[in-house]
Amino acid sequence: MQLLDTPKSRTTKQRGLILEELRRVDTHPTADEIFGLVRRKMPRISLGTVYRNLEVLAEQGLVLRLDGGGGQRRFDARTEDHYHVRCLGCGRVADLPSLSIEIPEREAAAGTDFQVVGFGLEFLGICPECQAAAAALAADDTPEGVKE
Ligand SMILES: [Zn+2]
Ligand SMILES: [Zn+2]
Repeated sequence: MQLLDTPKSRTTKQRGLILEELRRVDTHPTADEIFGLVRRKMPRISLGTVYRNLEVLAEQGLVLRLDGGGGQRRFDARTEDHYHVRCLGCGRVADLPSLSIEIPEREAAAGTDFQVVGFGLEFLGICPECQAAAAALAADDTPEGVKE
């Protein structure tokens, strides 16, 4: 642990608040967004502290790190098995109800020299806001006189 210079009680309090705020939302926020939430209650907390504590919480298995999609890493306090759908337009991530998907991990492991330790599965889609934005854009593009 590299938090030697931080008094333990303060670290615990900060980490507790970060986890509490993350559990309050289901939006899978980025570290920057979590910083915004936490700062309302702990105005002097720094972005670096939030980043560091999120990584510690992830290592402790209390939060999930969602990488992928080429965007910023997102975090999820819901750690039980569930799947995600990611918007190709804005990158937002939503939970899907639990699905019965069998991933043949043993078969996958048999086909490689890698030690397979897990898998990541993410559905891709377009969120309602991006659908609406695309529809509005399409409507705007309609040349005059074509509309009935
Ligand atoms: Zn979207
Ligand atoms: Zn989730």
